[in-house]
Amino acid sequence: MKLVLLGPPGSGKGTQAKRLAAALEIPQVSTGDILREARRAGSEVGKRAAAIMDSGGLVGDDIVNELVRERLGRDDAKRGFILDGYPRTTGQAEFLDAYLAESDRALDATLVLDVADEHIVERIVGRRTDRATGQIYHLEYNPPPPGADLVLRDDDREEVVRARLEAYQRDTAPLIDLYTRRGIVRKVSGNGSMDEVMERLREALR
Ligand code: AMP
Repeated sequence: MKLVLLGPPGSGKGTQAKRLAAALEIPQVSTGDILREARRAGSEVGKRAAAIMDSGGLVGDDIVNELVRERLGRDDAKRGFILDGYPRTTGQAEFLDAYLAESDRALDATLVLDVADEHIVERIVGRRTDRATGQIYHLEYNPPPPGADLVLRDDDREEVVRARLEAYQRDTAPLIDLYTRRGIVRKVSGNGSMDEVMERLREALR
């Protein structure tokens, strides 16, 4: 299964991508996670991406395309993968098609998580990550266990969230049309519990 998971920031994309990847036994490939890791490691790419990420904008296509080429070239991605947060622009979508075509591969499906705009900001602003495990919680909807060491992602502050939403509407939402024309889009409601959404995603792939 070669999958793309699309959805606005705060749609539960990262959480669902991790669970779906585990269920389908394929790697979750998150360019956001790779970029955050590059920053922690202090690499050249990490340094170049840092200011853009903190402002809620999009890192350049050249940088993320190279990261994806490197990641999808690894052995564990040969059987399939679930792309989470990539592609985010038409340039990235074109790169992905061309890259997959080099090895006679193509995407099987694009899953789109649908969440109403008014729910997004509250979902993101309440989000916390466990520093030790990377597990994502929500203070209200998916409360962390007592004593967990929680951090707020730097770009989950409200003003940055709005910039990220704008980038999604402007650059990423048009990809839904592109994949719809190709007949591979499966839209799923992102409202409800994590288990409900996961079940819908699995149903959409049957
Ligand atoms: P995410 O964790 O997917 O929300 O990504 C966090 C941030 O990393 C985004 O707000 C962007 O600044 C950057 N980023 C992640 N993936 C991409 C991508 N495919 N294209 C451009 N920027 C990206």
